[in-house]
Amino acid sequence: VAKPELLIADEPTTALDVTTQAQVLGLMKDLQRDTGMAMILVTHDLGVVANMADQVVVMSKGHVMESGPAKAVLGAPGHGYTQKLFAAAPMIPTVAEPSPPVVDDDLILELKNVSKTYTVRAGGWRENKLVHACRDVSLKLQRGTTLAVVGESGSGKTTCARIALGAEIPDAGSEVLFRAGSNSNPVCVNDLTRSQKIDFQRQAQMVFQDPYSSLSPRMRVQEALTEPMEIHCIGNRTERRDKAAEMLRWVGLKPDMLKRYPHAFSGGQRQRLSIARALTLNPELLVCDEPTSALDVSVQEQILTLLERIRDGMGLSYLFISHDLAVVARIADEVAVMRQGMVVEQAPPDTLFYAPRHPYTKALIAAQPEPDMNRPIDLAQVALGAGSPTGWAEEFRFDGLDAPDLIQVEPGHKVRCHV
Ligand code: ADP
Ligand code: MG
Repeated sequence: VAKPELLIADEPTTALDVTTQAQVLGLMKDLQRDTGMAMILVTHDLGVVANMADQVVVMSKGHVMESGPAKAVLGAPGHGYTQKLFAAAPMIPTVAEPSPPVVDDDLILELKNVSKTYTVRAGGWRENKLVHACRDVSLKLQRGTTLAVVGESGSGKTTCARIALGAEIPDAGSEVLFRAGSNSNPVCVNDLTRSQKIDFQRQAQMVFQDPYSSLSPRMRVQEALTEPMEIHCIGNRTERRDKAAEMLRWVGLKPDMLKRYPHAFSGGQRQRLSIARALTLNPELLVCDEPTSALDVSVQEQILTLLERIRDGMGLSYLFISHDLAVVARIADEVAVMRQGMVVEQAPPDTLFYAPRHPYTKALIAAQPEPDMNRPIDLAQVALGAGSPTGWAEEFRFDGLDAPDLIQVEPGHKVRCHV
């Protein structure tokens, strides 16, 4: 409004979805070009830096570590700290080959035509509105693998996760099947007997986004870690403590930390504690809902490495929810892209990045800020897919609830489009 000479923007897009972020960054650039104002942009995201900056100053613990023209700093980082930031930044692979489809002969979890409709007060006089949090979602998770669900805020990811764990009851006609072992029979998660329910609550665990609120501040680590075993009447006091200590070691913490309270831990350490807590019951399935979204990139990288190590070491299966395509590229065997409650495209990550078909997937990829000045955000591509389904190319276009089916376009690759 005041037509400033200088605009200071402190993490202006950090809380936004990637497609919205791309559009806001584009707008800031346009405004700057039109008005000639200078800008100080504060960000933790090297991808944003690569898209916006002429000059870069890298800070750590109150000190400038490195500064210079963006081309020089990003092209050949001189300081070890900057190099570490680069190494940790998750990136969408540039050169990939389509990968073979995930075989699904030993499913641990299957969502079949799952829908969830909420009725919410629309504010007006006795007016109710229906929210279709997820619509006709079908997902298969092969044992020992990671299925990622990716999409912007409000696309229905958490709803799917809660339904998978039986924490939310889906609409009639939906089905969720869980099979604990390769040789056991599948059980229907919304229709469990009492004893099946107790087993299921042990076998399927959740890791949440916010490591600060998922641990009680009044419980010592030891109590937090042994509580699930107490509830399930597993082991005696000593055995439970030993198990808690063992899980701490698994997540890279020390057993002598058992006596501490959560406030004595950093965000990354707390997320390790939450993971340790989820593991104390020897689960088969871990549902991770944005487990690294609240963490710095370098800590995020460590947690992703840890989750991979645990999955492979313990033979776990993950339903992994994220809004970040680059994180998903790193950890997933298969990716489902959600938009407004529906899966619009599904494939192994390399196939998805090598040959995306759906305009929304293409927009997500194009909007991802890469820490490489030679690969700027493609705003035209973002505009084609990020808007309403009525504006998509004809093959994919629909209005209201009248969406086309999810169609297999090649083995293991599904796209929601008209035939
Ligand atoms: P995401 O995890 O992808 O951000 P959610 O699954 O949390 O998405 O939400 C999907 C949609 O469902 C949103 O529009 C959200 O407002 C709505 N929603 C989720 N939970 C409820 C609820 N308990 N009551 C009403 N609406 C809800
Ligand atoms: Mg969510």
